[in-house]
Amino acid sequence: VIEIGQPEHSVVTTCAYCGVGCSFKAEMRGEELVRMVPWKDGQANRGHSCVKGRFAYGYSSHKDRILNPMIRDKITDPWREVTWDEAFAHVASEFRRIQYQYGRDSVGGITSSRCTNEETYLVQKLVRAGFRNNNVDTCARVCHSPTGYGLGQAFGTSAGTQNFDSIDQSDVVIIIGANPTDGHPVFASRLKKRLRQGAKLIVIDPRRTDIVRSPHVEASYHLPLKPGTNVAILTSLAHVIVTEGLFNEAFIRERCDWSEFEDWASFVAEPHHSPEAAEKFTGVPADLVRGAARLYATGGNGAIYYGLGVTEHSQGSTTVMAIANLAMVTGNIGRPGVGVNPLRGQNNVQGSCDMGSFPHELPGYRHISDDATRDIFEKLWGVKISNEPGLRIPNMLDAAVDGTFKGLYVQGEDILQSDPDTKHVAAGLAAMECVVVHDLFLNETANYAHVFLPGSSFLEKDGTFTNAERRINRVRKVMSPKNGYADWEVTQKMAQAMGLAWNYNHPCEIMDEIAATTPSFALVSYDYLDKMGSVQWPCNEAHPQGSPIMHVDGFVRGKGKFIRTEYVATDERTGPRFPLLLTTGRILSQYNVGAQTRRTENVVWHSEDRLEIHAHDAEQRGIRDGDWVKLVSRSGDTALRALITDRVAPGVVYTTFHHPDTQANVITTDFSDWATNCPEYKVTAVQVSPSNGP
Ligand code: SF4
Repeated sequence: VIEIGQPEHSVVTTCAYCGVGCSFKAEMRGEELVRMVPWKDGQANRGHSCVKGRFAYGYSSHKDRILNPMIRDKITDPWREVTWDEAFAHVASEFRRIQYQYGRDSVGGITSSRCTNEETYLVQKLVRAGFRNNNVDTCARVCHSPTGYGLGQAFGTSAGTQNFDSIDQSDVVIIIGANPTDGHPVFASRLKKRLRQGAKLIVIDPRRTDIVRSPHVEASYHLPLKPGTNVAILTSLAHVIVTEGLFNEAFIRERCDWSEFEDWASFVAEPHHSPEAAEKFTGVPADLVRGAARLYATGGNGAIYYGLGVTEHSQGSTTVMAIANLAMVTGNIGRPGVGVNPLRGQNNVQGSCDMGSFPHELPGYRHISDDATRDIFEKLWGVKISNEPGLRIPNMLDAAVDGTFKGLYVQGEDILQSDPDTKHVAAGLAAMECVVVHDLFLNETANYAHVFLPGSSFLEKDGTFTNAERRINRVRKVMSPKNGYADWEVTQKMAQAMGLAWNYNHPCEIMDEIAATTPSFALVSYDYLDKMGSVQWPCNEAHPQGSPIMHVDGFVRGKGKFIRTEYVATDERTGPRFPLLLTTGRILSQYNVGAQTRRTENVVWHSEDRLEIHAHDAEQRGIRDGDWVKLVSRSGDTALRALITDRVAPGVVYTTFHHPDTQANVITTDFSDWATNCPEYKVTAVQVSPSNGP
């Protein structure tokens, strides 16, 4: 029995885990958090929550937290605690020295999808106004950057089209490359409720996830495609819709360019895009694909939800565009119950992208080459902004290895553990002269850092997160920062040390600046959020109540754009040495690389990553359930224990990546999305053999 004391007061704030963005009442006794209670008025969760948001906050007071800044001359030296003022002065002088010695473009910054919109905005501002280049990127690079590109091309803006309430009016739901039961549990509950009311489900996933078959819910179709063949299966779905005349001509004529549609339709109608022809790539029986296409096109309101199983591929952007094509050809866009919806992995992936974290975009997805947009920020910030896109994360690391990139500020992100090709990331970091890690814990990247700046948890700051439905939710400070400064204050102090005249007294003033410079946020302020509870952008003169559904009367880009999506096989090939395909995912009780959940006692019940393998493949290799196995790819190897299952087909293996010992990214390749460099985490050719353990 755990004794829980009586709370003295409570503060409404937002969960800092996944992109559902659940609202909670943090019940407090003084500075002690007594419990997190799901807030019944939360507009994203309506009183529901999952185990992570409710119980996994103990990390914020874990003994591993570093509370004092530290510096060292070389990464082989021991850390030396310093005052905050010494740390800020050191960082400023190092970055200025490096730029003087190696040039303006030799430094950059990485924003975090875990931090608030206001903190993200300040990091990109520091890079653009302080470093005077566009070398800013975000951890969204390795997850949803293809969403940014693909939806931007097709619809004109990079965001999910619906609110979560929309699911209540869906008749057919496609889930592709997502496992909402584990990854987005509160959304999964709402989806299951709708399915129990009679809506139909189509799951496109190499693995039989829980949503395929769970109590009282069974998918009408599960298309268990071979990893890496999303584009082939989506284009074959479009083939059926076009060749069987199931398209929505009235919608297409009104909302899209008819001649572009005709060009695209003749492309998808080619015989090599038929389900029968695609079957040899995808492994999915053609009759299943034909049935799923007919159901989606004719079953009423059709909605598509997708996750990282779509984006983390060499054709991630193409896959997003193929999904957009399906929605447009069936007219499933612009009203409740339909749409295209990326399920964002981290709490503020949407917000970090909105805030100008990409090297080619200013806040609000406006290209850096646009003179009028640069002019707005130049006047406000009093600096000239380069019109050249800066470096993406992989380009920064390449340039570091080449000796031209020397200084990096990383806020709230462990690139050594979360980015692909760990050896290359380590080589890039090791070649730099000043790596500044700003985080709660001494993460893996900090092994290569020269400066460590302690971070603050979501409980210790004010700000906003933007969830997967574009909902801007308030994050409210429930206790003082244990390290002395909230993250936005740390970035401001760094900027001041570099000579920038920043003087924000509270994050609400940063939001006021965002609203003044970003049309889709024009009416957003902390007062307005307090009054409305939350709002979904665009929130401006045209949409004063916010925008639950996008593209209602027309697409943001004008006409919706059909784009040809030719399947191109990944360069990652199986063969005699590496005959199996590895794909990855996560479980309910853990979160990403586990930095927070592993430091919270409540969720320690799942203590290791396991390799799921089909009985046929296990038997061939003499592997029994629970045995240690060696997992080898062209990039590296690791050891973990086997879990024999029929959730994966023969030829496919699967693991999670929550524990650093597993080092899944030692295994993954350095192939990436052609448009955005998002790593191809979801397809790696491997061999599995018995092992004695790590
Ligand atoms: Fe937090 Fe996501 Fe769970 Fe909601 S569903 S409580 S946002 S982790």
